[in-house]
Amino acid sequence: MTIPDQTVDESSDAVLLARRHRLLGRSAPLFYDTPLHIVSARDVWMYDAQGRAYLDAYNNVPVVGHCHPRVVTAIADQATRLNVHSRYLHETVLDYAERLTATFDAVLDMVILTCTGSEANDVALQIARQHTGGLGIVCTNQTYHGNTTAVRDLSTLFSDGESRSPLVRPVTFPNAYRPLRGLSGQALVDAHIEEIVEQIGAFKAASVKFAGMLACPIFANEGLPNVPEGYWPRVAQIVREAGGLLIFDEVQAGFGRTGHMWGQQRVGVVPDIVTLGKPMGNGYPIAGVVSRAELIEPFRDEVMYFNTFGATPVACAAALAVLDVIAGEALIDNARTTGQCLADGMRALQSRHPLIGDVRSQGLFLAVELVEDRETKAPAGRLAKLIVNDMKTRGVLISRVGQFDNILKIRPPLPFRPAHADHLLNTFDDCLTALKDAAR
Ligand code: PMP
Repeated sequence: MTIPDQTVDESSDAVLLARRHRLLGRSAPLFYDTPLHIVSARDVWMYDAQGRAYLDAYNNVPVVGHCHPRVVTAIADQATRLNVHSRYLHETVLDYAERLTATFDAVLDMVILTCTGSEANDVALQIARQHTGGLGIVCTNQTYHGNTTAVRDLSTLFSDGESRSPLVRPVTFPNAYRPLRGLSGQALVDAHIEEIVEQIGAFKAASVKFAGMLACPIFANEGLPNVPEGYWPRVAQIVREAGGLLIFDEVQAGFGRTGHMWGQQRVGVVPDIVTLGKPMGNGYPIAGVVSRAELIEPFRDEVMYFNTFGATPVACAAALAVLDVIAGEALIDNARTTGQCLADGMRALQSRHPLIGDVRSQGLFLAVELVEDRETKAPAGRLAKLIVNDMKTRGVLISRVGQFDNILKIRPPLPFRPAHADHLLNTFDDCLTALKDAAR
């Protein structure tokens, strides 16, 4: 018999980390220089193994708040009765499909449920390629849409802005802070449209038929840039004129994040296909594709698309509860009002801290771009990393994003209130002040 070594604390973070490296691999991603060992969470707070509370200003999956009792109860109730794949008749699946499609423009009236955003984007590509008979897809040059073989070709953030596939052509994402050739307004829109037209032309020259463009309506992974007025309507027009479909990836933009139910409502364009994920089940895996029946019916007819865990009664019960809470607790209004408090407070800090080059916000989603010099806009990626780690040490969780990893990403669960915003802003102020003092 082996006698357990009483001197080793099995739960210590160092032991967990060593086990993780051995079992999952050294490169399995973890947040922070010293990883967090979170054991519970509620509303907008997360708690570590020592009982320390962290204000969660990062996680969008628990959109209605961590472990929301209504979602937990919906999952538990349905799990005690039935959980099975989608090839049986079941009311909850249809109730959800009905409630979900009702939140979109009337033309987007049919849904395919999946488990992950990657799968949803994969299915969207298949639908667009089937409908158009083409293969060529335009995406942006600093983005992420998921990890299936087909979707990875669009995830240009990890491949220096390029795609590995001749069937995918990236274009520069619009960004008023670091604009293409220093342009602004209509000239900037024109320059981006020209690029898209060029890439569609390049497909043609290579005898690849154009199938469409896939992008996030708010460019979340690109760093939430300010998009020049009129960009999206022009993009929709030229993509459609070229025979392609417009696919919006709402995996991050959706479910009230921007102060609208969908990012597309914020930008005022109805796409042909929408993909959803992350917050959809508040942590219970469910994702999906919403489109017009005329696109989904032929896809279903020709491709026997089946997803074992997509559209289970439990997944749909969780997702229904999420819709109920978003409406019942007026979380979209809160995203707007608290988002505004956060953005105003951040701009006030910007006036005192030159490191803050640009503050951009869409509802409860803030991007704070850090620069070493406001004139040159040299990205302050190293400092951004320091700040994310220091904020965590001070008990507030944020992350960073963008090509230069210099954009702080603040994207809390939607029950984040003005008092939480104040706490975050005060902590950030302390953190920036400490950084300044250390540099003296
Ligand atoms: N689209 C976007 C915009 C995303 O941010 C992500 C995940 N970060 C995905 C798709 C992929 O979703 P999943 O991880 O659920 O496959």
